[in-house]
Amino acid sequence: MTKARIIDGKGFALDLRTRIAAQVAALKESHGVEPGLAVVLVGNDPASQVYVRNKGQATLAAGMQSFEHKLPDTVDQATLVALVERLNRDPAVNGILVQLPLPRQIDPAVVIATIDPAKDVDGFHVENAGRLALGLPGLVPCTPLGCMMLLRDTVGDLRGLRALVLGRSGIVGKPMASLLLAADCTVTVAHSRTRDLAAECRRADILVAAVGRPEMVRGDWIKPGATVIDVGINRVAGAAEGKTRLVGDVDFAGAAEVAGAITPVPGGVGPMTIACLLLNTLTATRRQNGIAAPD
Ligand code: NDP
Repeated sequence: MTKARIIDGKGFALDLRTRIAAQVAALKESHGVEPGLAVVLVGNDPASQVYVRNKGQATLAAGMQSFEHKLPDTVDQATLVALVERLNRDPAVNGILVQLPLPRQIDPAVVIATIDPAKDVDGFHVENAGRLALGLPGLVPCTPLGCMMLLRDTVGDLRGLRALVLGRSGIVGKPMASLLLAADCTVTVAHSRTRDLAAECRRADILVAAVGRPEMVRGDWIKPGATVIDVGINRVAGAAEGKTRLVGDVDFAGAAEVAGAITPVPGGVGPMTIACLLLNTLTATRRQNGIAAPD
């Protein structure tokens, strides 16, 4: 039986997108400024094509300008870097996102390092990563930013709570840990070398799972009443032959019997990522134009 409150990330993200659209309209009205987001897609990866299409539609729906740049998967690194440099200089472009992964001949670190940190709406540039680690203002990676919003909405005051972040990637685990630390949680970061993962998880008031292993976190790993944020998106075989379905990194049914609140997959963290991309684009636009955010 499900005891946990199901955290409605889809609803929260829709509401956030509506608020962003209103702020974009107000920005145009009061300052004549229209935020612009450039998304660069290299190659024909089907998942990346879907992500880029969704991002473009969401950008337009928020009243922002969307610029899509598609390059063939044979493109060389110098050409991609030159495009990013052009976007850095373009005053109509406030945010730049290069869709990952990139083809083998291109080093993603070089491309990300080329993005102007003020336009780095993915928050992957080393300057933004460093700012986050030091607790300085910058642009924060979208997925952890979305997780934090859901956590604050669900839990309220996070101070002093024990948080476990499962996964230490540069795009989810590490920035998530920095955000939780900045919110005065006591943070543990677990990874593939962690001993007795289940015991570490059981101590956590807040558990953020970002491992990319389908349903790895079991119900009996969860502390009763804990808040569980499941970042994982894993496609597995469905009940019917030839069908697939999406599951998270947490065994939802088992965890929902023990947790106080939990995000579903899909419909939890996923929708927050695009909403936070729009939020970062709005933030970047304001900062580039010296416009303060409304209270
Ligand atoms: P990475 O593969 O970059 O990182 C995975 C992390 O999990 C690593 O730190 C790894 O440890 C750790 N790990 C792997 N296996 C185990 C294990 N058996 N026990 C303990 N730790 C383990 O993944 P990402 O951070 O990019 O993504 C994580 C998940 O989040 C994926 O399912 C991805 O699809 C999803 N995702 C969802 C997004 C969304 O919008 N909802 C956005 C981004 C990602 P080590 O460092 O030791 O190798």
